[in-house]
Amino acid sequence: MSQSFRRGVCLVIAAPSGAGKSTIAQALRDTDNNLFTSVSVTTRSPRPGEKEGEHYYFRDLATFRQMAENGELLEWAEVFGRGYGTPRAPIEKALAQGKDVILDIDWQGFRLMKKALPEDVVGLFILPPSLDVLESRLRGRQSDSEEEIAKRMMAAEDEISHWSEFDYVVVNQELEKAIEEARSVLMASRLATERCSMAKTFL
Ligand code: ADP
Ligand code: 5GP
Repeated sequence: MSQSFRRGVCLVIAAPSGAGKSTIAQALRDTDNNLFTSVSVTTRSPRPGEKEGEHYYFRDLATFRQMAENGELLEWAEVFGRGYGTPRAPIEKALAQGKDVILDIDWQGFRLMKKALPEDVVGLFILPPSLDVLESRLRGRQSDSEEEIAKRMMAAEDEISHWSEFDYVVVNQELEKAIEEARSVLMASRLATERCSMAKTFL
């Protein structure tokens, strides 16, 4: 089916930090050329190597708040003391063109996205096999301090308590299997009847 016959899917992937959502989202982006990459806005400073417009749009707090007030962000939140948000215009344009979007954000972001784009958003929750495995993955990432890891583990149980609000759930034990399952969720969402206006031409 030609891509232009359907609206895009906005797949929102959420998980406790360290469960593997960005690894899985990146694997899908790397192997699928119909995906539009959304670049978030943040008030935090760039880390070494991060580029404006590629990793994030880096804005000061006043500009960020103004964007939120103007309705320029589909969803926004304070995560670990910094503002993060998803720009509206590029996503609406991509979906209208039949491009799919993957967002890796938290459960609150998912709720707000579902409210902003109820017809387009599909929610996928990634669970770690256990809390012990989650902690060892956070340690393995080697980018977070002990204090940061403790903070993320505290937040993990709260995040996990929202898993059943999502449309699909994948346990990320073996990475390749989890990627394949996430890819299947995207495929099934693309084929949902309400997205395939082309079928109407048969009536
Ligand atoms: P998140 O985006 O949810 O915070 P990441 O994608 O950064 O999590 O993954 C956390 C760490 O766990 C990374 O070092 C990643 O390479 C590793 N990881 C992800 N999935 C698996 C897996 N199935 N088995 C082992 N390690 C994994
Ligand atoms: P980091 O500062 O490590 O890049 O991201 C910290 C957290 O912010 C991550 O959990 C990430 O998922 C979240 N985040 C990044 N962009 C957005 C966004 O646009 N909206 C929301 N709600 N969270 C975001």
